[in-house]
Amino acid sequence: MTVVEGAWLLTMAGEPVRGGRVAVADGRIVAVGEALADREPDLRLDGMALLPGLVNVHTHLELSYLAGAVPPSDSFASWVAQLMAARRAVDELAAPEVSRAAERAIGALRASGTAVVGDVSNTLITPPLLQSHGLAGVVFHELLGFGPGDRVAQVRDARARAEALATDTVRVSVAAHAPYSVSPALFAAIREDLGAHPGAVSTVHVAEGPEECEFLRTGEGPWRETLHALGVWNPEWEPPRTSPIAYLDDLGLFDGRVLAVHGVHVDGPDLARLRASGTTLAACPRSNRWVGAGSPPIDAFYASHVPVAFGTDSLASAPDLNLFSELAQARRLAPRVPARWLLESATQVGADALGLGGMFGSLDVGKQAAVLAVRVPEGVTDPEEYLVSGIDPSAISWVPVHG
Ligand SMILES: [Zn+2]
Repeated sequence: MTVVEGAWLLTMAGEPVRGGRVAVADGRIVAVGEALADREPDLRLDGMALLPGLVNVHTHLELSYLAGAVPPSDSFASWVAQLMAARRAVDELAAPEVSRAAERAIGALRASGTAVVGDVSNTLITPPLLQSHGLAGVVFHELLGFGPGDRVAQVRDARARAEALATDTVRVSVAAHAPYSVSPALFAAIREDLGAHPGAVSTVHVAEGPEECEFLRTGEGPWRETLHALGVWNPEWEPPRTSPIAYLDDLGLFDGRVLAVHGVHVDGPDLARLRASGTTLAACPRSNRWVGAGSPPIDAFYASHVPVAFGTDSLASAPDLNLFSELAQARRLAPRVPARWLLESATQVGADALGLGGMFGSLDVGKQAAVLAVRVPEGVTDPEEYLVSGIDPSAISWVPVHG
């Protein structure tokens, strides 16, 4: 057993404690806080705050090779069109630079304090990479399909591919892309799959850009044009004339096992629906700005008591995968939200949303010993506020778990 003492201990289950201790053995947390009051620490990390490793619930690691390839835009639909064109130019399954960039991104995630990731993947190149680099998480095998077709067979095949790659620490499940790229039949088949796999979680991009709202209200706009141009229009599809959140809720998609990502364009009734269904909302504010989607109403998210998690999204739409930087952007957008809530979102709420809350998310006995040590300058009296001000990877290290 190794007893570690930090200048501060943030368990995410209470107030920060000065000089708090945590004990780890065999890769697990075996004691914490008061229980170690009489133990001499084996390791004293002066000037460091100890906290659980962060949970980044939304990345696309397979897109890391596109870092900086599509510049910031003020139109989400045109940004996506450029991204799609860039992706079509590369054989992502075969090109070595795609997996090399994803591996570098996994290293950067670890270096910036991320212990768990929710990663969206079309190619499924990422589960073995996460496994070999020791980063835990859930890979969401993302499906698209708006036109007519056998969506039950599509999901069945995707489930088989997912199960072939899943391990104890890297789970793989099936997910929908977005309301403008997935037909009601495909949403229903994904929901069915989730029902048949009680431990699984899923995700969906929703209410990201204004064009999506226009498409669902009127059936018109850039997404209709794109679907026609791609030859995947569904002549049977009728616009629901509701908001994106109401549309997916009415399709029966939402519950506590579905992570709704973005929610830039939501109103009070939308948030009430998410709360009533137990759905977690994942915010990626830096990406939203980059792609021209707008900024999420973070204050309103918390005021509505919806569980909020954070993701960075991909390196195609964010300057880095540092979740502390995402928290700093959330802090700028929502200066009145308590820092503790933001930190809980980046740890326990995210872990819960990925179905891994029993293993990660807080410094509690029995959980994985994914303990971060973050250098905190002398004179800081509110470490929680400090931790949401933006932390450079050079100030971050992992507590050694052997012993
Ligand atoms: Zn995304």
